[in-house]
Amino acid sequence: MGDSLNRYTVTSELRFNDLGAHRSSAAGRFARHAVTWRTIVVRASTCLLAAAVTAGLQAAENISVLGNKPRWDVLEHYQQTITRDEFAHIINDVYCTHGFAPDLIEIKEDTARILINRDAQKFFTLRFAAGSEKLKPVPRLWRAAKSLPSVKGKKPLSGLKIALDPGHLGGDWAKMEERWFQVGDSKPVQEGDLTLSMSRLLAPRLRDLGAKVSFVRNDNEPITPKRPDDFRELAKKILVKNGVPQPRTDVLDSTDPEKDKTIRWQSEILFYRYSEIRRRAALVNFKLHPDLVLCLHFNAEGWGDPTSPLLTDTNHFHLLVNGSYLPEELEFDDQRFEMIRRLLSRAYDEELPLADTVAVTMSRETGLPPYTYPTTNSTTKVGTSGYVYARNLLATRLYRCPVVYCEPYVMNSKDVFARIQAGDYEGRRNINGVERKSIFREYADSVADGIVEYYSKAREL
Ligand SMILES: [Zn+2]
Repeated sequence: MGDSLNRYTVTSELRFNDLGAHRSSAAGRFARHAVTWRTIVVRASTCLLAAAVTAGLQAAENISVLGNKPRWDVLEHYQQTITRDEFAHIINDVYCTHGFAPDLIEIKEDTARILINRDAQKFFTLRFAAGSEKLKPVPRLWRAAKSLPSVKGKKPLSGLKIALDPGHLGGDWAKMEERWFQVGDSKPVQEGDLTLSMSRLLAPRLRDLGAKVSFVRNDNEPITPKRPDDFRELAKKILVKNGVPQPRTDVLDSTDPEKDKTIRWQSEILFYRYSEIRRRAALVNFKLHPDLVLCLHFNAEGWGDPTSPLLTDTNHFHLLVNGSYLPEELEFDDQRFEMIRRLLSRAYDEELPLADTVAVTMSRETGLPPYTYPTTNSTTKVGTSGYVYARNLLATRLYRCPVVYCEPYVMNSKDVFARIQAGDYEGRRNINGVERKSIFREYADSVADGIVEYYSKAREL
């Protein structure tokens, strides 16, 4: 990676965030911890803010862990690019479905007032377009399907720039990422390896259809130059400030119920999630400039002890787009800014119908039912397919273009486990009594079919 990325290197400011809130459903018991932890973190963060005000310090910025200082002036470019009705609809039905503090966003007749900094009582004023005929063009680096040249006589994805983001790292990092389990002596299941294998099948399919495909990651190494040890001090500070006065250094073992209160565990998650995804975002936003990012994952249900995992009969899939911010997430100046920037870029107008189209082809080819989140605390169902949810994940928030985040297959379902063990193969094979494609080809084909369907339709016009 070139020097051009250096200025985007993450800062090590001590800030508080929803550490643990973005853990997937990979392990049920960690999800429970995440909820408790989130509560602790939010409370502590409020106290710190109050302390700063009392001490008469400069207006405290309230930035997420490793977050960037918001650049509110950038939003000037979006003046009069949206009508009041459209803005209100997207805020209420997509991004702020769980409500928000009244001073954060105030929608008036001709303008919206958005809080920049609460201590300083600074606000950004967005002016609405007077009507749909008065809309100014939306500035953006990616191209919407409708703005791409017609494909008459060409391949349906010709000229489209797609970046593939195979989720996680896999390889030697899989255990640290808690994306690893092994049944007896069978081949360990490592999500980061599965997503990469699948992406390497998907890339040539998309290229054959005319797309220019890049990889956000194409091996088992992190994009971030940081490592867990670089975050030990920050991890300790976060723990101390959040009510763990003398955090333990190390995790006892993989089943340690208090591991999220250790410096080791926190510094690892700062590395493989926060630092890594922020670095991937810099690569996407400042170097790759795609029209679309596909975040490619495999899902799981709680598997318990990774060396003796629970196998289940449950199997499902869902897709995610950005949205459904929690009131406590909106309190962070950077997340609120990133949400508004994303809203104004109108990525949602592209990613929702795209996700819905991919959902239909995936459901047709996998036969899987939609996943239903056990609570609606952090997600909101959107679209028409029944498979798409809005959720505020780091990647869906930070990549500045449409992002479709795929979560098919429960890796520890008996069926998927057998298909993963069978590996990749050509044609069809009998697995658990059914003749099927390899799980990797089924995934790649069904995603590619959805992308083709969406873009061919949009580009015919
Ligand atoms: Zn994943």
